[in-house]
Amino acid sequence: MRRALVAGNWKMNGSSESIRTLLSGLVSGCQATVAEVLVCPPSVYLAQVTQTLQESPIAVGAQNVSEHSAGAYTGEVAPGMLIDLGCQYVILGHSERRALYGETDQQVAAKFSAALEAGLKPILCVGETLEQREQGVTLQVIGTQLQAVIDHCGIAAFADAVIAYEPVWAIGTGKTATAEQAQEVHLAIRQQLSQADKSIAEGCRILYGGSVNAANAAELFAKPDVDGGLVGGASLKADEFITICQVAGEEKTV
Ligand code: PEP
Repeated sequence: MRRALVAGNWKMNGSSESIRTLLSGLVSGCQATVAEVLVCPPSVYLAQVTQTLQESPIAVGAQNVSEHSAGAYTGEVAPGMLIDLGCQYVILGHSERRALYGETDQQVAAKFSAALEAGLKPILCVGETLEQREQGVTLQVIGTQLQAVIDHCGIAAFADAVIAYEPVWAIGTGKTATAEQAQEVHLAIRQQLSQADKSIAEGCRILYGGSVNAANAAELFAKPDVDGGLVGGASLKADEFITICQVAGEEKTV
């Protein structure tokens, strides 16, 4: 049985004050969740968050990392630095990074490899645009994004990784994929992994992301290949995020 994971992507939101308030709500509310809970704050607040969560079961991740380990890369953060701060995970290839910062499949694959080498667990984001869905090429687009990482890093790399299916048209829009649409893509992802290694495919957690909230989480997480969620907007509200985490635990333990 794969343990459910709910990851909060705070994006570029928050201040040290608002994060203090959010974390105090999460720490008391997430004590008893069956699902693994992860928060991914902006990099400048990682130290504050890892220190605050030291005694808590809530894990901490970054939203991006450099593919390089050190050197003349102004403004970048190396994988080893994230480990140094106490991070366990890193989100890679989020559609905002692909669309706004031009990250290619090859760069995402290089980051994935560098993250693993440093001891971080990558969360690889894949997803189609609305135009691609309407053209009927969703599975090809996602297959290509995933295959770039399999080819570069090898299938064994997915033993310590998570995949997040995030339809671009559902991120921050309030439009959620139906549970059936999510399951179709999650199954295709698992089958693609399975062609390379069946047991890695069975163990790999595949999260759904795109306007997940307390009201739609149960239906999405009830699907057999949906192992939790990558949550943006709703992860900034402690009560709603805690409810989503509780729902994930309940759906995956029955
Ligand atoms: C995200 O940023 O990964 C995301 C899924 O955002 P939202 O939940 O706000 O759609």
